[in-house]
Amino acid sequence: MGAMGESEPAVTPEVAALPADADGRANLIGLSREELAATLAEIGQPAFRARQLWHWIYHRGAVDFAAMSNLSKDFRAELAQRFTLARPAISVDRQSIDGTRKWLLKFADGQEVESVHIPEEDRGTLCVSSQVGCTLTCKFCHTGTQRLVRNLTAPEIVAQVMNARDALGEWPSPQEGRLLSNIVMMGMGEPLYNFDNVAKALKIVMDHEGIAISRRKITLSTAGVVPMIERCGAELGVMLAISLHAVTDELRDRIVPINKKYPIAELLNACRNYPGLNNARRITFEYVMLKDVNDSPAEARALVKLLKGIPAKVNLIPFNPWPGAPFERSTPERIAAFSDIVFNAGYASPVRTPRGEDIMAACGQLKSDSVKQRRSERDAAEARASA
Ligand code: SAH
Repeated sequence: MGAMGESEPAVTPEVAALPADADGRANLIGLSREELAATLAEIGQPAFRARQLWHWIYHRGAVDFAAMSNLSKDFRAELAQRFTLARPAISVDRQSIDGTRKWLLKFADGQEVESVHIPEEDRGTLCVSSQVGCTLTCKFCHTGTQRLVRNLTAPEIVAQVMNARDALGEWPSPQEGRLLSNIVMMGMGEPLYNFDNVAKALKIVMDHEGIAISRRKITLSTAGVVPMIERCGAELGVMLAISLHAVTDELRDRIVPINKKYPIAELLNACRNYPGLNNARRITFEYVMLKDVNDSPAEARALVKLLKGIPAKVNLIPFNPWPGAPFERSTPERIAAFSDIVFNAGYASPVRTPRGEDIMAACGQLKSDSVKQRRSERDAAEARASA
């Protein structure tokens, strides 16, 4: 973070990793290969042990050292004495009528974040959080109203993937037909304000001897932390999504306040320079459809002009409401007209079907101050019932 010296909003310092046991055993989940080797070296183990453990942890999903049958009994016992592979506690586990599933996970300091699994016909996507809360205060986003913010550690980010794999029964890592085939860093938080931890976590997730999800199946979404976009491309090479949402600085300043720091022209320049772009590897521009705010045909035409020269596709996201939100969703006709203009200019422009709305799991609805969380889910259910 802060690699180019840009100042970042204050976040409370991150605390220790995953719950060490009450008796102080260290959790091995989320250590890089190097860290794992170093940890084992401290107890006199040679480097190849790290590789064996890596296989058990990230390919087989072991939660118990006793299961590691190619390690000697004594060594297994020693591991169990010193270390754990415990997962975070699950505060809420809820499934939508459309199959979307949301977990609220609780970490060592009691803070909670959400991850969401979205099954589709040809894939399954896990939406992963990068921070507890978010400092960006985008006006249409529920997470932006959450007060407490801290960065997640790399182990806490990896643990979200482990938890989903556990729940979906996908150990050992399947080669084909995975329920969890794709990852989007589109949960709570701004991943490029927590780049080091996100990068470390994604490298673990991408490692081909473990969870093995390739960089082509990982999309990192940012509201536009321009100085970090280049590093994201160079160090991770994952797919990039940009939360654009407006075509003028005037409007974007208002609804995506980070625009005041990094205006549209700078943002799009960083996109033009993102490495590895071509027709098969495009940048996704997310555009939330807000009734009478950003949804006119003129704005669709302006959007097409802005994107000129960038291999791009546009995801139109019908605004997902939350209690007290100051916006409404654009009408289907308005969204269709917008989509047609963008499509006819040569850009894919799918309208994203809201998923998991009934469990407050859709884009922009995540917020995990858990008391408020449960209250707002109840409010949403009541609103639906009375509608
Ligand atoms: N901070 C990152 C990651 C969050 S991604 C980013 O801004 O990209 C979540 C996506 O959902 C973003 O595109 C965000 O702008 C969008 N979003 C937020 N609130 C929404 C809402 N209420 N309805 C629809 N989309 C929303």
